[in-house]
Amino acid sequence: MTTKPIIIIPDPLLRQVSQPIERVDEDLSRLIDDMFETMYDAPGIGLAAIQVAVPRRLLVIDVAREGEPKQPLTFINPEIIHSSDARSTYEEGCLSIPDYYAEVERPAAITVRSLDREGKEQITEADGLLATCLQHEIDHLNGTLFIDHISKLKRDMVIKKFTKAAKARAGL
Ligand SMILES: [Zn+2]
Repeated sequence: MTTKPIIIIPDPLLRQVSQPIERVDEDLSRLIDDMFETMYDAPGIGLAAIQVAVPRRLLVIDVAREGEPKQPLTFINPEIIHSSDARSTYEEGCLSIPDYYAEVERPAAITVRSLDREGKEQITEADGLLATCLQHEIDHLNGTLFIDHISKLKRDMVIKKFTKAAKARAGL
């Protein structure tokens, strides 16, 4: 297993729509292992393949608290098939937007259909932090970031800050 570099905004790849996975094979299994390693190392509670520059519909998530046993969850080609009318608000962050946090309101509970890492269909009923995390990660597969759910003023400020930092890194 190896950790992979996580891309950050304003990398245009983060705006790309990821393509469905057609084969659950050994290469995919290796990618899933690497994604868990990268996520735990970061550390984070969710990672979409596009964040390691692989535009495929794949997520890994582990919302277990510190000190609790690990609960690694893999979602291949996830699809939200139901969202609750009830909404909840969490302070979200993103490994691709380091050190920035903002409150985002989303449906409080969702049902997701996907494949597990064996390629078997799984239905996941999620609420609480898992529901928020799943929606945040599924957004990534559609090129959407959590800052798209906050005010344009705040979003523009964040993007400007990261664009400036990227230019500084490139020596521009
Ligand atoms: Zn994210």
